[in-house]
Amino acid sequence: ASARPNTVRLVFLGAAGVGKSALIRRFLHDRFEHKYKRTVEELHVLEYDTDGSGKMRLEILDTSGSYSFPAMRELCIRHSDAFALVYAVDDPGSFEEVRRLRDEILDLRGGKSAPITVVGSKADLTEAEGRVLLAGEAMDTVEEQWDAGFVEASARTGANTVGVFRAMLQQVNLPHRLS
Ligand code: GDP
Ligand code: MG
Repeated sequence: ASARPNTVRLVFLGAAGVGKSALIRRFLHDRFEHKYKRTVEELHVLEYDTDGSGKMRLEILDTSGSYSFPAMRELCIRHSDAFALVYAVDDPGSFEEVRRLRDEILDLRGGKSAPITVVGSKADLTEAEGRVLLAGEAMDTVEEQWDAGFVEASARTGANTVGVFRAMLQQVNLPHRLS
């Protein structure tokens, strides 16, 4: 789907405040900030060394959710190689948004599956701290019913942040999902 060979386009979608920017910042700079900055659309471009296939160019699109141009959103969904649909484990509404986003992606791209990784963000939160969504239940829905990837991660502690990107790249490499 990418314009250039060796380029992989990853897009992060999800409700506002679920931790998309924090995950990307942790991956790129190994940092975490408590203060919430409202993101406008942001594209990060970097060279990335892979295990077997040499260098690739990663384009990471951090979305804000407030698309003033629906056509832009559509373009972005059509031309991405892998999607992270992010929810926060303390926000059930954000999981419903993931459900909606998946439907939208399948609609726009056609077909029954798409290179989607569902990310349960803020995995550091305990039930006492507000966690209401359990990894096991979310994983059952995502892996069994949706045939998508699933990971939990915490930008705050750094736990499994790299795993998010690894899971997305795995989705890209599945042959039946390349077009
Ligand atoms: P975005 O709107 O999806 O980009 O969300 P942000 O990355 O800006 O994060 C929103 C808020 O959630 C910020 O106040 C972050 O500090 C907080 N946050 C992000 N990631 C985590 C995490 O892994 N754990 C916890 N406890 N809070 C987080
Ligand atoms: Mg953001």
